Amino acid sequence: MNISISPIYDMGHKASCFLLCLFINMILIIGYNKVIIKYDQAMGRCVDLKDINILGIETSCDETSASVVRNGREVLSNVISSQISLHQKYGGVVPEIASRKHVELVMPVINQALEEASMDIDGIDVIGVTYGPGLVGALLVGLSAGKGMAFALNKPLVGVHHIEGHIAANYIEHKELEPPFVCLVASGGHSHIVFIEDYDKFDIMGQTRDDAAGEAFDKIARAIGLGYPGGPLIDKAAAKGNSKAIEFPRVRFDGGSLDFSFSGLKTAVLNYLNNLEQKGEKYNIEDISASFQQAVVDVLVDNTLRAAKIRGVRNIALAGGVASNSCLRSLLKERASKEGLCVYYPKPVLCTDNAAMIACAAYFQYMKGNISDLNLNAVPGLRLGER
Ligand code: ADP
Ligand code: MG
Repeated sequence: MNISISPIYDMGHKASCFLLCLFINMILIIGYNKVIIKYDQAMGRCVDLKDINILGIETSCDETSASVVRNGREVLSNVISSQISLHQKYGGVVPEIASRKHVELVMPVINQALEEASMDIDGIDVIGVTYGPGLVGALLVGLSAGKGMAFALNKPLVGVHHIEGHIAANYIEHKELEPPFVCLVASGGHSHIVFIEDYDKFDIMGQTRDDAAGEAFDKIARAIGLGYPGGPLIDKAAAKGNSKAIEFPRVRFDGGSLDFSFSGLKTAVLNYLNNLEQKGEKYNIEDISASFQQAVVDVLVDNTLRAAKIRGVRNIALAGGVASNSCLRSLLKERASKEGLCVYYPKPVLCTDNAAMIACAAYFQYMKGNISDLNLNAVPGLRLGER
């Protein structure tokens, strides 16, 4: 008996066999190579990528940190060795001590980061390292470790701007956050309002003309005997104080400037303390903390909201150690929500210095093709957006 198969059925059958084979092949390829096919915002097109594991290294100030981050937003490990207790007795960071400690810790911290990520060095695709701004001796330690590893292992090296890292901490915490947005970066060394136009495009809209916000917190905390680092201690004391008890100045500049100045406020608090001391009167630490904190936060929030309005963005992010401040978070959220704006901030461990944020920033620079060569040097005064 002859069984005849219609040509149309035959063609359809062959086509479905072909598609099935293709599908199975794709699964095998995906399974073997861990290929990700996705639309990548950073590159602005669909890309086929293997997972990209970045080793981040951060030693710009007083934290020795190393981290493994996958595809920019998935933290596999984030080891932070803080030197706070070492510097506490001096009331601030002593650069020479910081550098020596980094030398001692950098390799053990990198090894621990790899171990916690269950990865050996061969699993790392790119090395990202902070090269500025920061303390030059401290920066050189992490940078030398990163460059040495990149050279020995023949892996690409990406130099990261420390503030870019602080901003990128938000991408780890909020997977949906993408540029454009406005970010207030407030830390021990920096107070900047930045417009993030793209993952590698930054425009500084305002910055401090003297002390950084975190620096002001640290100095006032020391003056009222709270200790170091002052930010978290003032935050805690302020919770029990009255923010309207003392009227401290809020500095605003003419001509639409979004810059900050905290040195006048610092002097006003010191004068207030001297006056009371001269009169032999005791001062209330909680009220001073709350009134000082409110004066800093009012200006930070005003300028950040103005920046968001100027750029017409819906999203605002906070970054840097001061982004942990409870008053700053709640006031910005309250005022932003009245204007229909969303506020993002990282969890406290990602606000202060850490290497996960550096690995994350390195990923986006790498995706843009921004790879550093081995002549990369530490740049203590590196400006944001410079490469
Ligand atoms: P940097 O990168 O400049 O070294 P970090 O991002 O590590 O600074 O942040 C440290 C700074 O953040 C310190 O000045 C510290 O006082 C401040 N800080 C930390 N937590 C708080 C808080 N809850 N409120 C205000 N400031 C804080
Ligand atoms: Mg720090």
